[in-house]
Amino acid sequence: MYFIETRGNDGHHPSRLSFSQAILSPLASFGGLFAPDGLPVLGEAFLRKHLESGYQALARDLLKAFDLDLESALIDEALRCYASFDNPQNPAPVVKIGDDLFVSELYHGPTRAFKDMALQPFGVVLSALARQRDERYLILAATSGDTGPATLEAFKGRANVKVACLYPHGGTSDVQRLQMVTEDAPNLKVIGIRGDFDDAQTALKHLLGSTAFKARLREKQMHLSAANSVNFGRIAFQIIYHFHSYLELVRQGAIPLGGKAYLDVPSGNFGNALGAYYAMKMGLPIEKILIASNRNHVLADLIETGRYDIRQRTLVPTSAPAMDILKSSNIERVLFDLFGAERTRELMRQLDERNYYALTPEELARLQEIFGADWCDDETALAYIRKAYENGYLMDTHTATCFKPYESRREKALPTIIYSTAEWTKFSPTLARALFNEAGLSDEKALRLIAVRAGVSVPERIQALFEKPVAQPLVIEKTDIEQAVLEFI
Ligand SMILES: *Cc1c(COP(=O)(O)O)cnc(C)c1O
Repeated sequence: MYFIETRGNDGHHPSRLSFSQAILSPLASFGGLFAPDGLPVLGEAFLRKHLESGYQALARDLLKAFDLDLESALIDEALRCYASFDNPQNPAPVVKIGDDLFVSELYHGPTRAFKDMALQPFGVVLSALARQRDERYLILAATSGDTGPATLEAFKGRANVKVACLYPHGGTSDVQRLQMVTEDAPNLKVIGIRGDFDDAQTALKHLLGSTAFKARLREKQMHLSAANSVNFGRIAFQIIYHFHSYLELVRQGAIPLGGKAYLDVPSGNFGNALGAYYAMKMGLPIEKILIASNRNHVLADLIETGRYDIRQRTLVPTSAPAMDILKSSNIERVLFDLFGAERTRELMRQLDERNYYALTPEELARLQEIFGADWCDDETALAYIRKAYENGYLMDTHTATCFKPYESRREKALPTIIYSTAEWTKFSPTLARALFNEAGLSDEKALRLIAVRAGVSVPERIQALFEKPVAQPLVIEKTDIEQAVLEFI
């Protein structure tokens, strides 16, 4: 598999990259991304072969089919990361919660959010590639809560990679903040800033444009890479769990092999949904991919109306903060795949210049053959959480948004897999309010309350956070970020 550019080639970038090159330098011409130049199509025989496989065996075979330029020993090493999940044989269990409704729980890794599914193996691969080339990399991350902990955990103590992670002080949950500030490794720097997530992101962009910063990187012979889902290295590992979840449905007798199902994805930057799209292209029998949004429903609007319009929009903070986004990066890879580089470049230029683009009716029809979408506000999501709880299932705020398209956008009575992207423990104050009418609790109190009232246990790794010493106390003004990062590298 090779990678080509979503906005075409500007003559200064290589026009085609291998997987390892695309991982190490993920930015393409004209501000575009790298996308696969083709995907293997795996028929029913492949699925049948893996009916009895554990997750690692399935993953190994899929990655082999991608024909990546990674040694098989490295792939094996990367996949061993799932040993740290609750059940190494089945890191993403699929749970039946209704007649035709299943939840694929993607949050059983070290930071209790689905980002671990891809970032854990990705950390192993990036560090190994850097070591093989005797190069050193810096990863800059700005986080509103989930990406930060998962990125730090993925690179903790890994050779040849440093991570600087910016978070808005006071803008994350206690659990998320503690997951970051208790990380203690010399290659990690966690920086709280006085400001919101936008400030953190703006600071990061400013840093990338700073001459002093770039000069220092050169002097230190450091390269920049990225660990967000613009990096295809993450997407590769996100295709796998869609195959796994489908096979689980077959194993549980919900569908015959080859039968179709809906996948229902709570979406923000569209990495999870893109993995589902690629899986569908590779022959996984999916009826449609349902996209769930919260009040920041740019993606649902695009799929419903063909218009991506952020002219009048401002970001609304919701109880599903990992989906609070206006510019969703990975939809670009879908546009590229469906409509080609020239059209994608045109659409992305319109978005940059006018905060708006519109698909043609024909283009919209093609998009709607693959995707359906709907969104819900916080109150509706909390009502879904209550209803699921009454039926014996505890879910987080992101997962809950999936009920909306499940109810409104299925055209056939086929089994549906909802993707659960975070454990309830990450958003416990909201859940305490939704389920027990207890408002204003701290994370620690809310965790205890829910554990007692719902009869569940708080995982060791979350509980331990409240006793761990803070290793990364730094909180600074926006204006001091560059200096802090320079000192770190
Ligand atoms: C990152 C995240 C999402 C959004 O996933 P995308 O791949 O960016 O669409 C949804 N829920 C949670 C809990 C997340 O951490």
